Formats: sequence, C-alpha cells, structure tokens
Amino acid sequence: MSDVLILVETKEGALDKKTLELIRGGSGLAKELGTGASAVVVGHETSLLAESVASYGLNKVYRLEHPLLKGFKPDAWVGALEWLCKQIVPRVFLISHAFVGREVAPRLAYRLNTELTTDCTGLKIDPADKALIRTKPIYGGNAVAIVKTEGSPQVVTVRRGAFEPVEETATKSEMVPLTPPLDESLIRVKSLKTVEQEVVELDKANIVISGGRGIAEKEDFEVLIALAKALSKTHGKVMVGCSRPVVDKGWMSSDHQVGLTGSMISPEAYVAVGISGAVQHLVGMIRSKKIIAINTDLGCNMFKVADFGVVGDYKEILPALIKKLEE
Ligand SMILES: Cc1cc2nc3c(=O)[nH]c(=O)nc-3n(C[C@H](O)[C@H](O)[C@H](O)COP(=O)(O)OP(=O)(O)OC[C@H]3O[C@@H](n4cnc5c(N)ncnc54)[C@H](O)[C@@H]3O)c2cc1C
Repeated sequence: MSDVLILVETKEGALDKKTLELIRGGSGLAKELGTGASAVVVGHETSLLAESVASYGLNKVYRLEHPLLKGFKPDAWVGALEWLCKQIVPRVFLISHAFVGREVAPRLAYRLNTELTTDCTGLKIDPADKALIRTKPIYGGNAVAIVKTEGSPQVVTVRRGAFEPVEETATKSEMVPLTPPLDESLIRVKSLKTVEQEVVELDKANIVISGGRGIAEKEDFEVLIALAKALSKTHGKVMVGCSRPVVDKGWMSSDHQVGLTGSMISPEAYVAVGISGAVQHLVGMIRSKKIIAINTDLGCNMFKVADFGVVGDYKEILPALIKKLEE
C-alpha cells in the first residue's frame, strides 16, 4: 500500500493555493501514518507544473501525461486517476472541495468501490487502526460530524482554508512520469467552455461591504458600490459581497456570497447592510477584524457580533456615510 496522495490543481497555469493547503494537510497525515505524501499532476505537457510541485517536501510527484488530459476533461481525468489508484493503491486520497474535486471525487470513489466524505474541515489519523477521521460541518453548519469509513482508498474532499498553505523546501521530490491507457471513446464531455466573468476575490479585500435581503431592490446595490469606491481611496481593496438570498434572486453571482456555501473571509472590516446574521452567514465572516452592522432591527443577530452598529434604514445611512467620506 502506498501513502497519502494529493490531487494537484492549477489556477491560471500556476499551482493553486488550494493544492498547497492539501499538501500541508496530507504531509501531516503521512507523518501520523509513518509514511510519506505524494501528489499527482494530471494533464498534457505538465513538466513545469510537476517541477514546481516537487519543491514542497513530497515523496513522489506522479505525472499523468496524455494528450486526452489536456485541459480539464472530467471523463479522462477520472479514468486516469482510477488507473493510477489501482497501480499505487494510496491509503488516503485528498482532493479539494472545489469545481474539479466535486466533479471528479464522487465518480472516482464509485469506480474504486470506496466511500467518499466531502467538504471536510479537519482530518486526523486514528492511532488505534490508522483509519482517517474526518470532521465536517452538517445541518448548515449547526453541527459537526465526525466520520470514519472502512473503504480503501480513503477518499475525501477538503474545504478551502482547512489547512495553511505549505512552504517550499530545499529538497526535490522524485518524479514519476506515467501514461494512463486512455482512448477517445471514454470521453463523453468533449470540451468545457470558459465563460468570461468578473473576477471576485473577496478573500483578498481589506474591507467587504455586503448587502442582504434587507436591500429593497437590485439597483440599491449601486449605493454599496459607491461606498466601496469611497472607502477604497483610503483603505485599499474594498469589495462588495452579499448574503445568499441576494444570489438566489439573481442580483449577484455566487462569487459574491459570504457564508457556509460561499466564501469564508476575514477582512480588516466587514460591513453588513440589511443582513440579519443567520449562522450560515456568520461562519463566513465572523473572523473579520471589525464588524459593522447597519440594520433596522436592533434585535437582529448581526448586532450581537458587531463591534459597531447603526440602527436604521440603509437608504438614509449609506448616502450620508458616503457624503461624509467624500468630505
Ligand atoms: C445549508 C444552508 C447553507 C446556507 N448558506 C448560506 C451562505 O453561505 N450565506 C448566507 O448568507 N446564507 C446562507 N444560508 C441562508 C441563511 O440561513 C439565511 O437565510 C440568510 O443568510 C439570510 O440572509 P439575510 O440576512 O440577507 O436575510 P434576512 O434574514 O431576511 O435578513 C434581512 C435583514 O435586513 C434587515 N433590513 C430590512 N430592511 C432594511 C433596511 N431598509 N435597512 C437596513 N436593514 C434592513 C432586516 O431587519 C433583517 O435583519 C444557508 C442556508 C442553508 C440551509
């Protein structure tokens, strides 16, 4: 049996931060198991990427190379990873709980006749039987499940931010280039089309101003955008976020959503406008350095966690605030 395996992902051609987090988590598990962690790079002409992965203290970097693996083709990726898992028999397989992972992990677990635990926020090894103990939030984050399964490999998807990204090391991992036996007939989804859209990285903002269901109409988000612009003159990157009802209404894309099923952020300041403070929203922003609530309801939950609060209608408060900032 081999060791802990990590699926490598890229963002704009470079190694994704999610993968660096998985390497940290996987290396810790490998240590507990008394074995090593390895990573798998899937694609075509991946030597540069594989070289960069080799700088993070892993035992081996498997390079699954095939022209059919160019870009992300889910059928081909699942086929190649199934083949690799059957060759090297990893004990644990860590995959990020994001677009690629959500597509690949369930199908891979099914093909390997093993169980999958998704969206894990904590992982450790049971010293008694060396099984993987997973922690994951359930019931909308109101409870935490501790999960242990019997199947092999132990496949899990891991939530972003569950581990700190790993740092580079001086030593290089062993490179293992492999060509999985793939053919065109495997591939039902021939290509994926990338839709151009605005890049929203709430986790990189110094201040996030979020609007909730209390915002009466879509056009009123213009006032939040104006406040963000006014603040950005003195506070760097300021972005507009939202609660889930705003996404459900189709007013903003899900990239703007803060919370359990959105982004988990910890900006210098978080301004919650017309957001009541449901637990599923709070888990996404509670680690903000300062929380400012603007709400008509003094009894709402958001005021209980806020450092500063203004009780009132955003339609009056926000324009007054912008005017003051511009002065
Ligand atoms: C599994 C699951 C996952 C979820 N994930 C998320 C998630 O990731 N993110 C998320 O946000 N939610 C999530 N939710 C939904 C969550 O439970 C709440 O329903 C949601 O957060 C409520 O959004 P809200 O505070 O904007 O709306 P509401 O709870 O309706 O609050 C609106 C607030 O606006 C105030 N208000 C009204 N008018 C004004 C005004 N003129 N000026 C100022 N204030 C005003 C009201 O007093 C009220 O406090 C999830 C739910 C489930 C079950």
